[in-house]
This record gives sequence, structure tokens and C-alpha cells, in this order.
Amino acid sequence: MKKIAIYGKGGIGKSTTTSNLSAALAMLGKKVVQIGCDPKADSTINLLHGKQIVPVMDYYREHEEAPGFDEIGAPGFGGVFCIETGGPNPGLGCAGRGIIATFDLIEEMEVFQRIQPDVVLFDVLGDVVCGGFAAPIREGYASDVYIVTSGEKMALYAANNIFKAVENFRDRGYAHVSGIILNRRNVEDEYENVQAFAEPNGLEIIADIPRSGDIIHYENQGMTVVEGAPDLPVSQKYFELARKIIGESC
Ligand code: ATP
Ligand code: MG
Repeated sequence: MKKIAIYGKGGIGKSTTTSNLSAALAMLGKKVVQIGCDPKADSTINLLHGKQIVPVMDYYREHEEAPGFDEIGAPGFGGVFCIETGGPNPGLGCAGRGIIATFDLIEEMEVFQRIQPDVVLFDVLGDVVCGGFAAPIREGYASDVYIVTSGEKMALYAANNIFKAVENFRDRGYAHVSGIILNRRNVEDEYENVQAFAEPNGLEIIADIPRSGDIIHYENQGMTVVEGAPDLPVSQKYFELARKIIGESC
């Protein structure tokens, strides 16, 4: 089982990348679990035809007891099992606690033993200062981190912070950064600027995803572009990424 966390600046395209990667992996015959670790709980929505599942923390708020296996998540496109941690009501408490509570529940309910996924993808909050930042890369959770960035200054600034933070945790046996996913915003010298960050840090740009109206077109229909039009060049980029990721472990 390969456990991967996707990090990056807020709004950079983490959930889009993660969902398309999940969809591509599923179409390649892999069993996938996608865990959205964001109080917004919108990570898996495009795998579920726009239907939002009840986030684990919302379930806890509304019920006396913990959710059962059928309530912790739901299968989406290609059988990808979708889980959303959710979080506290805005301004009331730490998102990290919700993430950790959900991980404990996943463990307790032996979700991975029951589903036997080939790949688990964690779609993570990009904010390094948040308590939820480190939760998915604690030992036993994700072991590989991929950072999504564009060539924009602020995205690269965040990518650098994430890289440093993950490296700081590395001594404790936590995860390591396995590569950079370039999600283009079509700024000047985009590839070169991302490469100027990646190369000195010994990182490879493992995917180069174009800015694409097709992604938004299918998102408006509640699906990933990989599901909606798998033959498009942009979808093929996600398949390429999926093959690279599983190729590394298989
Ligand atoms: P957050 O930090 O808020 O969770 P995020 O990093 O998960 O954000 P997304 O929600 O995936 O970001 O993407 C933000 C918006 O950008 C979405 O509406 C998505 O459709 C669009 N988007 C992402 N990647 C691309 C792309 N390559 N081409 C066109 N649109 C894109
Ligand atoms: Mg997101």
C-alpha cells in the first residue's frame, strides 16, 4: 500500500490534482482511498458527481456515537473510497484535531484492512502553521509527499515552506518529499521558475499539468476531467502521473 500526501498553497489545485489522480489510478485498476483533510470537506466532491459526503467531524457533532463503516465515507467514481475529515466550525478550534480524530477512527475501524487499497491519497491543508499540517505525515500515515505548485511567487514560497517543514520532520521518521507537481497558471518562465526551486533541493518535477478549461468544464458537472474525457491530453497527464507514482512502488 502506497500512502501519499498532496500539499501546496491554498487554492493551487490540490483537490483537483488529487481527485484526477485518484480517478486515473482507479481506471488503471487500482483500489484507491482518498482522504480530504480540510474543514471545507470539498476534496472528493468531483469523484461523487457533486454529492458531498458527511464529513467525519460533522457526524461526530450530530450524533452521540462514532460513525460506522458505511458512514465514514462512500465509494465514488471507479470505486475510489472517499472520506472527508471535515473540521471544527470556522473559528472554533483546531483543524488538526479533526484530522487526527478521523485518522484514529480509520485505524479503529480497520478501514485499510477492509478495503485493502493499493494507494491512499491524503489531500491536505496547505497552511504550514496549522496544527493539521503534520498529521498526515506522521509515521504510519503518508510516507511520500508531493507538492503542487505553479510558477507564481506565492505558490513557490509556500512550496518552499512545505518542503522545509517536511524535511524538519524527517529526522523523526516521518515522510519525505518525493516530487513536485507543476499545475500551470501560465505565468512567464513558469517551468524555469519551478525548476529553480526544485533542482537545488534535489526534487524532480514529476508532472506538468496545463491550465485547462476542460478541468473546469467537467468540474461544473461534478466530475473529474479524467472521468469526463479520459482521452484528452490533460487527462493523459494525470494518467502519466498515476503510472509514475505506482511505478515507484510496484
Ligand atoms: P484549497 O487550498 O482551497 O483546498 P486546492 O488547492 O484544493 O484549494 P482546487 O480546489 O483543486 O485547489 O482548485 C481551485 C480551482 O482551480 C478549482 O476551481 C479548479 O477547477 C481550478 N483548477 C485547478 N487546477 C487547474 C488547472 N490545471 N486548470 C484549470 N483550472 C484548474
Ligand atoms: Mg482543496
